[in-house]
Amino acid sequence: MHSQFAAEPSSNDTAERDLTVGDVPGLRSPASGADRAPLVFDVIIAGCGPTGAMLAAELRLHDVRVLVLEKGTEPKSFVRIVGLHIRSLELMAMRGLLERILEHGRRRPAGGFFAAIPKPAPKGLDSAHAYLLGIPQPVIERLLEEHAIELGAQVRRGCAVAGFEQDDEGVTVELADGERLRSRYLVGCDGGRSTVRKLLGVGFPGEPSRTETLMGEMEVGVPQEEITAGMAEIRETHQRFWLRPFGEGVYSVVVPAAGVSDRAEPPTLEDFKQRLRAIAGTDFGVHSPRWLSRFGDATRLAERYRVGRVLLAGDAAHIHPPTGGQGLNLGVQDAFNLGWKLAAQIRGWAPEALLDTYQAERHPVAEEVLDNTRAQMELLSTEPGPRAVRRLLTELMDFDEVNRHLIEKITAIGIRYDFGEGPDLLGRRLRDIDVEQGHLYGLLHRGRGLLLDRTERLTVGGWSDRVDYLADPAAVLDVPCVLLRPDGHVAWIGDDQQDLDGHLSRWFGEPAG
Ligand SMILES: Cc1cc2nc3c(=O)[nH]c(=O)nc-3n(C[C@H](O)[C@H](O)[C@H](O)COP(=O)(O)OP(=O)(O)OC[C@H]3O[C@@H](n4cnc5c(N)ncnc54)[C@H](O)[C@@H]3O)c2cc1C
Repeated sequence: MHSQFAAEPSSNDTAERDLTVGDVPGLRSPASGADRAPLVFDVIIAGCGPTGAMLAAELRLHDVRVLVLEKGTEPKSFVRIVGLHIRSLELMAMRGLLERILEHGRRRPAGGFFAAIPKPAPKGLDSAHAYLLGIPQPVIERLLEEHAIELGAQVRRGCAVAGFEQDDEGVTVELADGERLRSRYLVGCDGGRSTVRKLLGVGFPGEPSRTETLMGEMEVGVPQEEITAGMAEIRETHQRFWLRPFGEGVYSVVVPAAGVSDRAEPPTLEDFKQRLRAIAGTDFGVHSPRWLSRFGDATRLAERYRVGRVLLAGDAAHIHPPTGGQGLNLGVQDAFNLGWKLAAQIRGWAPEALLDTYQAERHPVAEEVLDNTRAQMELLSTEPGPRAVRRLLTELMDFDEVNRHLIEKITAIGIRYDFGEGPDLLGRRLRDIDVEQGHLYGLLHRGRGLLLDRTERLTVGGWSDRVDYLADPAAVLDVPCVLLRPDGHVAWIGDDQQDLDGHLSRWFGEPAG
């Protein structure tokens, strides 16, 4: 099936709440014409990685009928330890997931992530969750998938999206086995080699991999002291090298590969041994691998995040080297930005062009992440020039402001969306402050907007079905009132009802009746 695209809808869709959720596994239908399958789902998501699972959960908060199609028959087994950075931890707190996630990870100070330059976290980071959580990626994926399913999302494994067609009313999605399903929107969260992006014909410009790194878990045949001594010396020149104990005698091993491959096949233990000998002069007696993998440093960004009724998020929209540990965080944050907007479109209250703010806000954020990973890769180079720049930056990071600027980039708490002229807080996320009822983020679990009113004079009036209201004169804020979007970004600051109404319309559409 070829993908075909309708012109972008010019007006809001109307809600279609009268449709019935059918017997999905048996659903088959021709792709077009009068026999087109009914719109059983509002949104089909291709891929149940962290981005797809987060998006499914966000959509379910608004009662959107969601089906997630995942190519893999089983959850992924190889354990990549990722770091959840401050902004992602804040998102988890905003949806009541933080406690569950904290149980499975290890907290670390939020410093030393920029190009692995070992500096402490800057002082007084503006967050109630100012740490990094080291956690295995499969655990994050499982928790987010469970959360989505608890909220009512359907997840079908062993189903690869192979094609789609879109028209004025929806998208017909074809699976690899020929089954066809229909929904109003399709979101490609299907990773860096995204089928959806390729079928959509969206360009993915950037640079191919220039370096490749082998990564795996295995046992070693020498004592820890020998490794520690060797490591310190080698890391003087090779920043992309480490052997770290992972527990129960297993080590996480990272070593630069000899060249760049097509990564179609995983590396062998012999590949690791050869590279360890070449760089460290010993293979440390590595044996009994648990899993072996390799990653490159290709850096690419999708030209568009939306074509009509098909959108892209997460690695499907951007890829970059894992320096600073940002990819998963970026994808989950894309989903958080998109979820409520797509839900608003489907529920029929989205203001004109709200959905397009997804690309307007998130594309520049990804551009910046790509750039900071490019810079970090240079700083990890073994060439004399980049090593000199690294030494200089290491000195500069002793200035707290420099260190802070870089860590705020990596942890995504420095993001400010362009909402127009206004105080510095406008467009930024609001930290989790104490309010009369406890914590501010505790009031955002339902994914609705929130007016925090210190004047006790304002009202959300006809928007109360979408926006909550909290009067709290004692709230720790140096402005009279803030209007928060469901993603916690500040959409308005002020104390004037008429001005507020204008901004409620801008973000939440027309007031009810
Ligand atoms: C070595 C390494 C270390 C990393 N460390 C970090 C870190 O510390 N912090 C961090 O934030 N990020 C890190 N990352 C990046 C992170 O792993 C990715 O950015 C993240 O997995 C992207 O999530 P995603 O859901 O967008 O895509 P993916 O995780 O790739 O998920 C896509 C899903 O789509 C499925 N799929 C693919 N094609 C189809 C199809 N046609 N139909 C249906 N399903 C399909 C796949 O099976 C997969 O489950 C690291 C990456 C590497 C390589």
